[in-house]
Amino acid sequence: MKMGLCSFCLKSGILCQKCLAKLKSGEVSETDLKVARLLLSLEEKFPSLQNVYFHRTVDTDRTLALVVGPGDVPRLLGYGGRIVKTLSEETGKNIRVLENGVDDRKFLEDLFAPLNIVTINTIWLPDGSTETRVILGRRRGMRSSLDVKALAEIASKVRNMTLRVEFAD
Ligand SMILES: [Zn+2]
Repeated sequence: MKMGLCSFCLKSGILCQKCLAKLKSGEVSETDLKVARLLLSLEEKFPSLQNVYFHRTVDTDRTLALVVGPGDVPRLLGYGGRIVKTLSEETGKNIRVLENGVDDRKFLEDLFAPLNIVTINTIWLPDGSTETRVILGRRRGMRSSLDVKALAEIASKVRNMTLRVEFAD
């Protein structure tokens, strides 16, 4: 796993001046550090993690999103979901894995997985701002467990995107 901190600092847990400065400035958060060290500790068991670029976390009440490099989602979701399950147990939150630098559709697909997206469109508001309307396909039992509010908050923090989520009839 690679990220903006030295791997030596991550492994030892004792940060050099440079890494400490990133933590103090908020470029890297305490949660980022915690998740990065967790991912590193899981590398031996799940070798695909070695090739993951970890950008940052976006934290909400009950859901924690990990932002990783393009193409890294399958590396984290493999092994029958055991990496994500471990992260969820260690942090006490639902985990979402999102890729940096992808288009809106890919971003939203990862955000709402395993629900499928029926339609995405942009709504222009009178003040010139926009909302992104996402219509999700129905899936028995999923709707209630989906924390739409948290996912909308994540979309806003990661992409500056205002979501309006609806379900297909
Ligand atoms: Zn360092």
